[in-house]
Amino acid sequence: RSKGQYSGAREAFALWQQQPDLVYLDSAASCQVPEIVLQRYLDYYRGEHANAHRGAYPMAQHATELLEQARSYLARWLGTDATQLVFTAGATHSLNLLAQGLRIDWQPGDELVVSRAEHHANFLPWQRLAEQHQLALRWLDLDPTTGQLPDDWAEVIGPRCKLVAVTLASNITGQVLPVQAICQRARSVGAISCVDAAQAVSALPIDVTSLGCDALTFSAHKMYGVTGCGVLYAATSLQSQLDPAWLGGGMVAQVTPSASQWLAGVQKYEAGTPNTAAVVACAEAAKWLEEQRQLGLGDYVQKLADDCVVELRKRPWLKVLPRPSAALPLFSFFAPAIHAFDIASFLAEQNIAVRAGSHCAQPLLSHWQHEAVVRVSFGAYNTPADCERLLAALDEAYQLFIED
Ligand code: PMP
Repeated sequence: RSKGQYSGAREAFALWQQQPDLVYLDSAASCQVPEIVLQRYLDYYRGEHANAHRGAYPMAQHATELLEQARSYLARWLGTDATQLVFTAGATHSLNLLAQGLRIDWQPGDELVVSRAEHHANFLPWQRLAEQHQLALRWLDLDPTTGQLPDDWAEVIGPRCKLVAVTLASNITGQVLPVQAICQRARSVGAISCVDAAQAVSALPIDVTSLGCDALTFSAHKMYGVTGCGVLYAATSLQSQLDPAWLGGGMVAQVTPSASQWLAGVQKYEAGTPNTAAVVACAEAAKWLEEQRQLGLGDYVQKLADDCVVELRKRPWLKVLPRPSAALPLFSFFAPAIHAFDIASFLAEQNIAVRAGSHCAQPLLSHWQHEAVVRVSFGAYNTPADCERLLAALDEAYQLFIED
Protein backbone atom coordinates (compact mmCIF):
# COMPACT_ATOMS: atom_id res chain seq x y z
CA ARG A 1 0.00 0.00 0.00
CA SER A 2 1.40 3.39 -0.90
CA LYS A 3 0.85 6.61 1.00
CA GLY A 4 -2.46 8.23 0.17
CA GLN A 5 -4.31 4.95 -0.22
CA TYR A 6 -3.94 4.08 3.42
CA SER A 7 -7.28 3.08 4.84
CA GLY A 8 -6.46 2.20 8.42
CA ALA A 9 -5.21 -1.01 9.98
CA ARG A 10 -8.32 -2.60 11.43
CA GLU A 11 -7.27 -6.03 10.20
CA ALA A 12 -4.22 -5.85 12.49
CA PHE A 13 -6.47 -6.05 15.58
CA ALA A 14 -8.08 -9.32 16.68
CA LEU A 15 -10.69 -7.38 18.63
CA TRP A 16 -12.73 -6.66 15.51
CA GLN A 17 -12.92 -10.33 14.60
CA GLN A 18 -14.62 -10.88 17.93
CA GLN A 19 -16.65 -7.67 17.98
CA PRO A 20 -17.13 -6.48 14.39
CA ASP A 21 -19.87 -4.11 15.46
CA LEU A 22 -17.79 -2.18 18.01
CA VAL A 23 -17.11 1.51 17.32
CA TYR A 24 -14.13 2.29 19.51
CA LEU A 25 -13.57 6.03 19.83
CA ASP A 26 -11.62 6.05 23.09
CA SER A 27 -8.02 5.59 21.97
CA ALA A 28 -6.98 8.66 23.95
CA ALA A 29 -7.73 6.66 27.10
CA SER A 30 -6.11 3.44 25.84
CA CYS A 31 -5.31 2.23 22.34
CA GLN A 32 -6.30 -1.27 21.37
CA VAL A 33 -3.32 -3.58 20.91
CA PRO A 34 -2.37 -4.97 17.48
CA GLU A 35 -2.02 -8.73 17.22
CA ILE A 36 1.70 -8.47 16.38
CA VAL A 37 2.33 -6.69 19.70
CA LEU A 38 0.24 -9.20 21.65
CA GLN A 39 2.13 -12.03 19.97
CA ARG A 40 5.46 -10.51 20.97
CA TYR A 41 4.22 -10.20 24.55
CA LEU A 42 3.03 -13.82 24.64
CA ASP A 43 6.16 -15.13 22.92
CA TYR A 44 8.23 -13.52 25.63
CA TYR A 45 6.27 -15.34 28.33
CA ARG A 46 6.14 -18.58 26.35
CA GLY A 47 9.87 -18.99 25.82
CA GLU A 48 12.01 -16.08 26.98
CA HIS A 49 10.83 -15.11 30.44
CA ALA A 50 13.35 -14.68 33.23
CA ASN A 51 14.25 -11.93 35.67
CA ALA A 52 16.37 -9.41 33.72
CA HIS A 53 19.62 -8.03 35.15
CA ARG A 54 19.83 -10.76 37.77
CA GLY A 55 20.76 -14.24 36.52
CA ALA A 56 23.84 -15.68 34.82
CA TYR A 57 22.06 -18.54 33.04
CA PRO A 58 21.29 -18.11 29.32
CA MET A 59 17.59 -17.28 29.62
CA ALA A 60 18.23 -14.60 32.23
CA GLN A 61 20.96 -13.13 30.05
CA HIS A 62 18.63 -13.23 27.09
CA ALA A 63 15.91 -11.39 29.05
CA THR A 64 18.49 -8.76 29.99
CA GLU A 65 19.45 -8.38 26.33
CA LEU A 66 15.81 -8.05 25.31
CA LEU A 67 15.23 -5.33 27.88
CA GLU A 68 18.35 -3.41 26.86
CA GLN A 69 17.68 -3.82 23.14
CA ALA A 70 14.19 -2.39 23.69
CA ARG A 71 15.75 0.49 25.63
CA SER A 72 18.17 1.25 22.79
CA TYR A 73 15.45 0.99 20.16
CA LEU A 74 13.01 3.24 22.02
CA ALA A 75 15.76 5.72 22.87
CA ARG A 76 16.70 6.02 19.18
CA TRP A 77 13.01 6.33 18.32
CA LEU A 78 12.82 9.34 20.66
CA GLY A 79 16.02 10.94 19.42
CA THR A 80 18.21 10.06 22.41
CA ASP A 81 20.34 7.20 23.69
CA ALA A 82 19.85 4.38 26.16
CA THR A 83 21.70 6.12 29.00
CA GLN A 84 18.84 8.61 29.23
CA LEU A 85 15.86 6.27 29.05
CA VAL A 86 14.16 4.92 32.17
CA PHE A 87 11.41 2.30 32.16
CA THR A 88 8.54 2.96 34.51
CA ALA A 89 5.03 1.61 35.04
CA GLY A 90 3.49 4.49 33.05
CA ALA A 91 3.35 8.26 32.71
CA THR A 92 1.84 8.72 36.18
CA HIS A 93 4.64 6.68 37.71
CA SER A 94 7.28 8.66 35.77
CA LEU A 95 5.92 12.05 36.84
CA ASN A 96 5.78 11.05 40.50
CA LEU A 97 9.28 9.62 40.23
CA LEU A 98 10.42 13.01 38.97
CA ALA A 99 8.53 15.11 41.49
CA GLN A 100 9.67 13.00 44.42
CA GLY A 101 13.26 12.52 43.27
CA LEU A 102 14.27 16.00 42.16
CA ARG A 103 16.97 17.41 44.38
CA ILE A 104 16.40 21.15 44.11
CA ASP A 105 17.20 23.75 46.69
CA TRP A 106 13.62 25.09 46.74
CA GLN A 107 13.16 28.49 48.37
CA PRO A 108 9.71 29.69 49.47
CA GLY A 109 8.28 31.78 46.64
CA ASP A 110 10.11 29.89 43.89
CA GLU A 111 7.77 29.22 41.01
CA LEU A 112 6.45 26.15 39.22
CA VAL A 113 4.77 26.72 35.91
CA VAL A 114 2.15 24.35 34.50
CA SER A 115 -0.20 24.71 31.58
CA ARG A 116 -3.93 24.87 32.23
CA ALA A 117 -4.26 21.81 29.99
CA GLU A 118 -2.39 19.43 32.26
CA HIS A 119 -3.74 16.00 33.02
CA HIS A 120 -3.88 15.46 36.79
CA ALA A 121 -0.85 13.19 36.43
CA ASN A 122 1.27 16.19 35.44
CA PHE A 123 -0.32 18.52 37.94
CA LEU A 124 -0.96 16.83 41.29
CA PRO A 125 2.70 15.82 41.91
CA TRP A 126 3.74 19.44 41.29
CA GLN A 127 0.88 20.83 43.34
CA ARG A 128 2.03 18.75 46.29
CA LEU A 129 5.61 19.86 45.82
CA ALA A 130 4.39 23.45 45.80
CA GLU A 131 2.52 22.87 49.08
CA GLN A 132 5.52 21.17 50.70
CA HIS A 133 8.00 23.92 49.81
CA GLN A 134 5.69 26.97 49.68
CA LEU A 135 6.25 27.40 45.98
CA ALA A 136 4.00 29.55 43.80
CA LEU A 137 2.12 27.75 41.01
CA ARG A 138 1.78 29.82 37.87
CA TRP A 139 -0.40 28.94 34.91
CA LEU A 140 0.02 28.99 31.17
CA ASP A 141 -3.62 29.66 30.35
CA LEU A 142 -5.53 28.63 27.27
CA ASP A 143 -8.09 30.90 25.68
CA PRO A 144 -11.61 29.43 26.00
CA THR A 145 -12.58 30.45 22.45
CA THR A 146 -9.40 29.66 20.54
CA GLY A 147 -7.86 27.04 22.82
CA GLN A 148 -4.51 28.77 22.30
CA LEU A 149 -1.90 30.20 24.65
CA PRO A 150 -1.88 34.01 24.79
CA ASP A 151 0.84 35.77 22.76
CA ASP A 152 2.62 36.86 25.93
CA TRP A 153 2.76 33.37 27.52
CA ALA A 154 6.55 33.55 27.89
CA GLU A 155 6.16 36.20 30.60
CA VAL A 156 4.65 33.59 32.92
CA ILE A 157 8.02 31.83 32.97
CA GLY A 158 10.06 34.34 34.93
CA PRO A 159 13.35 34.49 36.84
CA ARG A 160 11.95 32.70 39.94
CA CYS A 161 10.70 29.76 37.91
CA LYS A 162 12.47 26.51 38.80
CA LEU A 163 10.39 24.03 36.83
CA VAL A 164 7.98 24.01 33.90
CA ALA A 165 5.65 21.02 33.52
CA VAL A 166 3.76 21.03 30.27
CA THR A 167 1.80 18.64 28.14
CA LEU A 168 2.75 18.20 24.50
CA ALA A 169 -0.94 18.13 23.67
CA SER A 170 -4.20 18.50 25.56
CA ASN A 171 -6.10 15.30 26.23
CA ILE A 172 -9.35 17.28 25.94
CA THR A 173 -8.97 19.55 22.91
CA GLY A 174 -6.07 17.76 21.25
CA GLN A 175 -4.28 21.08 20.93
CA VAL A 176 -0.54 20.73 20.45
CA LEU A 177 1.31 23.23 22.64
CA PRO A 178 4.46 25.07 21.44
CA VAL A 179 6.56 22.88 23.68
CA GLN A 180 9.86 23.49 21.95
CA ALA A 181 9.53 27.25 22.58
CA ILE A 182 8.33 26.63 26.15
CA CYS A 183 11.34 24.43 26.92
CA GLN A 184 13.66 27.00 25.40
CA ARG A 185 12.12 29.70 27.57
CA ALA A 186 12.42 27.44 30.64
CA ARG A 187 16.08 26.87 29.88
CA SER A 188 16.72 30.60 29.43
CA VAL A 189 15.59 31.26 33.03
CA GLY A 190 17.44 28.20 34.38
CA ALA A 191 14.28 26.12 34.95
CA ILE A 192 13.86 22.39 34.39
CA SER A 193 11.36 21.38 31.72
CA CYS A 194 9.17 18.30 32.00
CA VAL A 195 7.01 17.27 29.04
CA ASP A 196 4.00 14.98 29.28
CA ALA A 197 3.80 13.22 25.90
CA ALA A 198 1.22 10.63 27.01
CA GLN A 199 -1.43 11.91 24.65
CA ALA A 200 0.79 13.01 21.77
CA VAL A 201 2.99 9.92 21.47
CA SER A 202 0.68 7.96 19.20
CA ALA A 203 0.09 10.89 16.86
CA LEU A 204 3.33 12.88 16.68
CA PRO A 205 6.91 11.79 16.03
CA ILE A 206 8.92 12.87 19.09
CA ASP A 207 12.53 14.00 19.17
CA VAL A 208 13.54 14.94 22.70
CA THR A 209 16.75 16.54 21.49
CA SER A 210 15.03 18.99 19.18
CA LEU A 211 12.27 19.59 21.74
CA GLY A 212 15.03 20.58 24.16
CA CYS A 213 13.28 19.21 27.24
CA ASP A 214 14.98 17.86 30.36
CA ALA A 215 12.37 15.14 30.90
CA LEU A 216 9.60 13.59 28.82
CA THR A 217 7.26 10.74 29.53
CA PHE A 218 4.47 8.59 28.10
CA SER A 219 2.66 5.32 28.71
CA ALA A 220 2.90 2.36 26.33
CA HIS A 221 -0.84 1.70 26.40
CA LYS A 222 -1.44 4.99 24.58
CA MET A 223 0.77 3.98 21.65
CA TYR A 224 -0.60 0.50 20.93
CA GLY A 225 1.45 -1.21 23.63
CA VAL A 226 0.23 -2.93 26.78
CA THR A 227 -0.50 -1.45 30.21
CA GLY A 228 2.02 -1.41 33.05
CA CYS A 229 4.86 0.15 31.08
CA GLY A 230 6.01 3.71 30.59
CA VAL A 231 9.04 5.52 29.35
CA LEU A 232 10.80 8.42 31.03
CA TYR A 233 13.44 10.36 29.17
CA ALA A 234 15.71 11.94 31.76
CA ALA A 235 18.53 14.01 30.27
CA THR A 236 21.98 13.23 31.66
CA SER A 237 22.14 16.76 33.08
CA LEU A 238 18.84 16.17 34.92
CA GLN A 239 19.98 12.82 36.31
CA SER A 240 22.66 14.60 38.31
CA GLN A 241 19.87 16.26 40.32
CA LEU A 242 17.41 13.36 40.35
CA ASP A 243 17.53 10.83 43.19
CA PRO A 244 15.73 7.50 42.89
CA ALA A 245 12.27 7.84 44.44
CA TRP A 246 11.98 4.09 45.07
CA LEU A 247 14.66 1.90 46.53
CA GLY A 248 15.10 -1.86 46.30
CA GLY A 249 16.61 -4.67 44.29
CA GLY A 250 18.42 -4.09 41.02
CA MET A 251 19.38 -0.44 41.62
CA VAL A 252 22.31 -0.68 44.01
CA ALA A 253 26.03 -1.19 43.49
CA GLN A 254 26.68 -1.99 47.13
CA VAL A 255 24.66 -2.30 50.30
CA THR A 256 26.15 -2.25 53.79
CA PRO A 257 24.32 -1.98 57.11
CA SER A 258 25.33 1.66 57.40
CA ALA A 259 25.13 3.00 53.84
CA SER A 260 24.41 1.98 50.29
CA GLN A 261 25.61 3.05 46.91
CA TRP A 262 23.29 3.23 43.92
CA LEU A 263 24.17 2.13 40.44
CA ALA A 264 25.39 4.97 38.27
CA GLY A 265 23.09 4.68 35.25
CA VAL A 266 19.34 4.74 34.64
CA GLN A 267 18.95 1.43 36.43
CA LYS A 268 19.06 3.29 39.72
CA TYR A 269 15.56 4.55 38.87
CA GLU A 270 14.28 1.04 38.18
CA ALA A 271 14.09 -0.63 41.60
CA GLY A 272 12.40 -4.02 41.57
CA THR A 273 11.82 -6.61 38.86
CA PRO A 274 11.41 -4.90 35.49
CA ASN A 275 8.29 -5.54 33.41
CA THR A 276 10.35 -6.94 30.54
CA ALA A 277 7.36 -8.41 28.70
CA ALA A 278 5.62 -5.03 28.54
CA VAL A 279 8.86 -3.26 27.62
CA VAL A 280 9.50 -5.67 24.76
CA ALA A 281 5.90 -5.19 23.64
CA CYS A 282 6.38 -1.41 23.84
CA ALA A 283 9.33 -1.57 21.44
CA GLU A 284 7.28 -3.80 19.14
CA ALA A 285 4.42 -1.29 19.29
CA ALA A 286 6.80 1.56 18.40
CA LYS A 287 8.04 -0.43 15.38
CA TRP A 288 4.49 -1.15 14.29
CA LEU A 289 3.45 2.47 14.78
CA GLU A 290 6.43 3.67 12.78
CA GLU A 291 5.51 1.36 9.88
CA GLN A 292 1.92 2.59 9.95
CA ARG A 293 3.13 6.18 9.97
CA GLN A 294 5.21 5.51 6.86
CA LEU A 295 2.05 4.16 5.21
CA GLY A 296 0.06 7.28 6.07
CA LEU A 297 -1.53 6.70 9.49
CA GLY A 298 -1.03 10.32 10.64
CA ASP A 299 -2.97 11.95 7.79
CA TYR A 300 -5.55 9.19 7.86
CA VAL A 301 -6.61 9.58 11.50
CA GLN A 302 -6.30 13.34 11.30
CA LYS A 303 -8.76 13.42 8.42
CA LEU A 304 -11.17 11.13 10.28
CA ALA A 305 -11.22 13.53 13.23
CA ASP A 306 -11.36 16.69 11.09
CA ASP A 307 -14.24 15.38 8.95
CA CYS A 308 -16.15 14.30 12.04
CA VAL A 309 -15.77 17.76 13.59
CA VAL A 310 -17.06 19.40 10.38
CA GLU A 311 -20.18 17.24 10.57
CA LEU A 312 -20.68 17.82 14.30
CA ARG A 313 -20.50 21.57 13.84
CA LYS A 314 -23.53 21.32 11.55
CA ARG A 315 -25.56 20.31 14.61
CA PRO A 316 -26.31 23.48 16.58
CA TRP A 317 -27.39 21.60 19.70
CA LEU A 318 -23.78 20.40 20.11
CA LYS A 319 -20.75 22.56 20.84
CA VAL A 320 -17.27 21.37 19.99
CA LEU A 321 -14.56 22.65 22.32
CA PRO A 322 -11.93 24.84 20.61
CA ARG A 323 -9.85 22.75 18.28
CA PRO A 324 -6.99 24.67 16.68
CA SER A 325 -5.67 23.35 13.39
CA ALA A 326 -2.60 21.83 15.07
CA ALA A 327 -4.50 19.23 17.06
CA LEU A 328 -4.34 15.51 17.70
CA PRO A 329 -6.98 13.21 16.18
CA LEU A 330 -9.38 13.81 19.05
CA PHE A 331 -11.92 16.41 20.11
CA SER A 332 -14.46 17.03 22.86
CA PHE A 333 -17.97 18.37 22.74
CA PHE A 334 -20.92 19.07 24.98
CA ALA A 335 -24.62 19.62 24.58
CA PRO A 336 -26.03 22.34 26.83
CA ALA A 337 -29.34 20.44 27.02
CA ILE A 338 -28.04 16.91 27.69
CA HIS A 339 -25.54 15.78 30.28
CA ALA A 340 -22.30 14.35 28.88
CA PHE A 341 -22.85 11.11 30.81
CA ASP A 342 -26.28 10.68 29.26
CA ILE A 343 -24.80 11.09 25.79
CA ALA A 344 -22.03 8.58 26.54
CA SER A 345 -24.52 6.07 28.00
CA PHE A 346 -26.80 6.43 25.00
CA LEU A 347 -23.83 5.83 22.67
CA ALA A 348 -22.70 2.86 24.78
CA GLU A 349 -26.10 1.23 24.23
CA GLN A 350 -25.32 1.40 20.53
CA ASN A 351 -21.90 -0.16 21.01
CA ILE A 352 -20.08 3.14 20.50
CA ALA A 353 -17.30 3.69 23.02
CA VAL A 354 -16.52 7.30 23.90
CA ARG A 355 -15.53 8.85 27.18
CA ALA A 356 -17.46 11.41 29.21
CA GLY A 357 -16.35 13.32 32.27
CA SER A 358 -13.58 15.68 33.23
CA HIS A 359 -10.91 13.43 31.68
CA CYS A 360 -8.57 13.96 34.65
CA ALA A 361 -8.09 17.52 33.45
CA GLN A 362 -10.23 19.51 35.85
CA PRO A 363 -8.00 22.61 35.83
CA LEU A 364 -8.87 23.20 32.16
CA LEU A 365 -12.53 22.23 32.31
CA SER A 366 -13.33 24.22 35.42
CA HIS A 367 -11.41 27.21 34.03
CA TRP A 368 -13.63 26.99 30.97
CA GLN A 369 -16.69 26.49 33.20
CA HIS A 370 -17.47 22.93 32.21
CA GLU A 371 -18.07 20.03 34.48
CA ALA A 372 -18.09 17.22 31.94
CA VAL A 373 -17.61 16.86 28.20
CA VAL A 374 -17.72 13.96 25.76
CA ARG A 375 -14.40 13.06 24.15
CA VAL A 376 -14.05 11.29 20.82
CA SER A 377 -10.62 9.98 19.88
CA PHE A 378 -9.38 8.03 16.88
CA GLY A 379 -6.91 5.22 16.31
CA ALA A 380 -5.54 3.15 13.46
CA TYR A 381 -8.61 0.88 13.47
CA ASN A 382 -11.21 3.58 12.94
CA THR A 383 -12.94 4.15 9.62
CA PRO A 384 -15.26 6.77 8.13
CA ALA A 385 -18.10 4.33 8.88
CA ASP A 386 -17.34 4.77 12.60
CA CYS A 387 -17.90 8.52 12.27
CA GLU A 388 -21.15 7.87 10.42
CA ARG A 389 -22.33 5.56 13.20
CA LEU A 390 -21.44 8.20 15.79
CA LEU A 391 -23.26 10.97 13.94
CA ALA A 392 -26.35 8.85 13.35
CA ALA A 393 -26.45 7.88 17.03
CA LEU A 394 -26.07 11.50 18.09
CA ASP A 395 -28.97 12.46 15.82
CA GLU A 396 -31.04 9.80 17.56
CA ALA A 397 -29.99 11.16 20.93
CA TYR A 398 -31.18 14.58 19.81
CA GLN A 399 -34.58 13.12 18.87
CA LEU A 400 -34.86 11.28 22.14
CA PHE A 401 -33.60 13.89 24.61
CA ILE A 402 -34.48 17.18 22.97
CA GLU A 403 -37.19 16.88 20.36
CA ASP A 404 -39.44 14.43 22.18
N1 PMP B 1 -1.00 12.57 30.78
C1 PMP B 1 -1.98 12.60 29.86
C2 PMP B 1 -2.07 13.78 28.93
C3 PMP B 1 -2.87 11.54 29.78
O1 PMP B 1 -3.87 11.60 28.88
C4 PMP B 1 -2.73 10.45 30.66
C5 PMP B 1 -3.68 9.26 30.60
N2 PMP B 1 -5.03 9.55 30.68
C6 PMP B 1 -1.70 10.47 31.59
C7 PMP B 1 -0.85 11.54 31.62
C8 PMP B 1 -1.49 9.37 32.58
O2 PMP B 1 -1.19 8.18 31.95
P1 PMP B 1 -1.27 6.80 32.78
O3 PMP B 1 -2.64 6.75 33.37
O4 PMP B 1 -1.04 5.75 31.74
O5 PMP B 1 -0.20 6.85 33.80
